[in-house]
Parts: sequence; C-alpha cells; structure tokens
Amino acid sequence: MNETVARLLNEQINKEFYSAYLYLDMAIFYDAMDLDGYANYYTIQAQEERDHALLFMKYMQSNGLKVTLDAIGKPDKTFETVLDPLEVAAEHERYVTALINNIYHEAHQAKDYRTMKFLDWFVDEQMEEENNADTMISRYKLFGQDPKGLYLLDQEYAGRVYTAPSLTL
Ligand code: MG
Repeated sequence: MNETVARLLNEQINKEFYSAYLYLDMAIFYDAMDLDGYANYYTIQAQEERDHALLFMKYMQSNGLKVTLDAIGKPDKTFETVLDPLEVAAEHERYVTALINNIYHEAHQAKDYRTMKFLDWFVDEQMEEENNADTMISRYKLFGQDPKGLYLLDQEYAGRVYTAPSLTL
C-alpha cells in the first residue's frame, strides 16, 4: 500500500480514540450538571468513536499493515454552558470529515480503490455525524433555554441506545 495512505490510516486510529476521549469529557461535564440524558448521549458517542478506531485498525490488519498505537491527547476543551460541548462537537466532526476526505484524496491519487471503498462508509457516517451535531445545537437553541424544554431534551437523549456500526470487516 502507498506509504502516505498507510500512515494516514494509522493516524486515524489515534484521531478516533481522541474523539472518544473528547466525547467522554463532554459526558463527564453533563453528568456533573445532572443532565444524565446528554451524558448518556455522549457516552454512547464515545463508544461509537472507539468502534471507528477499531475499524481502521482491522482494515490495516486485513491488508497486512503494521499498526502502531500512539498516545491519546488530553481533551483540552473547556465547557461552561450546556451549549458549549454541542458547538465543540459540531466543529470537531467537521474536522474529522476533513481528515477522512484527506485520506480519500491520497487513496485516490494512489489509485487505491480498495481504501476508497472502505472509506465510503466513513464519508456517509460523517454526513450523519455533522447533521446530528447541528440538530443538537438548533434544538437546544429552540427549546433548551426553557427549563421544561431542557428537561424534555435531556429525557430524549437518555433514550439513545448503543448500536454496533453497520460496517463489518
Ligand atoms: Mg468517528
């Protein structure tokens, strides 16, 4: 496999674990506010990010590539309001989309159609992640400033359940 593509795939494992860490940090912030629904939402989001890391790992292994795990960065965002993590999440997902697009670009340059096909799932996934993050912001702005509205939103996010990724390798 092309060296740049292989390096970017390996780096993406770390990026996905960092995403899991960032979302766990958000869950901790909401838990401290007794917003258990939001805390649940981001705990599950963290599980999904770990799944993404394992998918990149498995893909590399299936292609005979050596996987090297690196240190996971400390979550360095500060949250003060209920809205803060929602905005950080939306911004972070756009960053992840750019990372995926960059790997896709390098795979395309290298005529690595297999990796492009693997990444297609993540391209779709990122559309969903950005859409979900944006919806959480707009719904908070619509309903969240009212205590009863925030209570209902929190109740709704308490209902999120973990589902394994639809991509299997
Ligand atoms: Mg991800």
